[in-house]
Amino acid sequence: CGIVGYVGPNSAIDVVSEGLRRLEYRGYDSAGVALVGDTGLVTEKRAGKLANLAEAVTAAGGLREPRTGIGHTRWATHGAPTDRNAHPHVSVDGRTAIIHNGIIENFGQLRAELEATGIEFRSDTDTECVAHLLSAELAHVDDLAEAMRRVCRRLQGAFTLLAVHADAPGVVVGARRNSPLVAGVADGEYFLASDVAAFISHTREAIELGQDQVVEISAAGLKVTGFDGSPAEGVPFHVDWDASA
Ligand code: GLU
Repeated sequence: CGIVGYVGPNSAIDVVSEGLRRLEYRGYDSAGVALVGDTGLVTEKRAGKLANLAEAVTAAGGLREPRTGIGHTRWATHGAPTDRNAHPHVSVDGRTAIIHNGIIENFGQLRAELEATGIEFRSDTDTECVAHLLSAELAHVDDLAEAMRRVCRRLQGAFTLLAVHADAPGVVVGARRNSPLVAGVADGEYFLASDVAAFISHTREAIELGQDQVVEISAAGLKVTGFDGSPAEGVPFHVDWDASA
């Protein structure tokens, strides 16, 4: 039940893995990562402890090249805690990856609609429909944040979402409704997380996102909009509690 995203000069797998460890206290049954670099999009996910995910990452060669990544710990609500139901979930073309904490209440209707277009679902989660909806929007609009806004307007329930795309190395897009999402800002690097604990060893400059907002982090900075596309701003704050633990 934790989310972390990273864009910056360092190996995303290191930053994301550390962030997930710092979110372990929230509880989880599975974990996964999606990373974007020069070689495209790679994902790894495993039921069970973070050690299982770390083994998969090592078996895949360490995945140290990508500088952009998202990581997830799952507390299953829809679908058993298995490898295939673990996040990230990826679009059929293999180019869009998403992670989600919360519940998409209207997933049944969205899934039926997508299945009617020929999409075969690969998990039992409420989450997977978001990967396919984003991919469908990206056929019309060449911008991950705009695609996310369009998809979020169709979702009901509680969600923190992060997305990456193979064609957008250096970009992570997040969204929130009734579920927490904070950004961390350091020198030339940006973080997104469900909890400041995920990035506290890197920066104490944080921004709380508001309800029904989409945020994009990239080398160009941090950009916040409402689900309707209106310009918005998060609320900056300084984390001053001791996080040496
Ligand atoms: N509802 C989603 C699932 O069951 C996300 C659960 C979570 O918050 O980790 O996969």
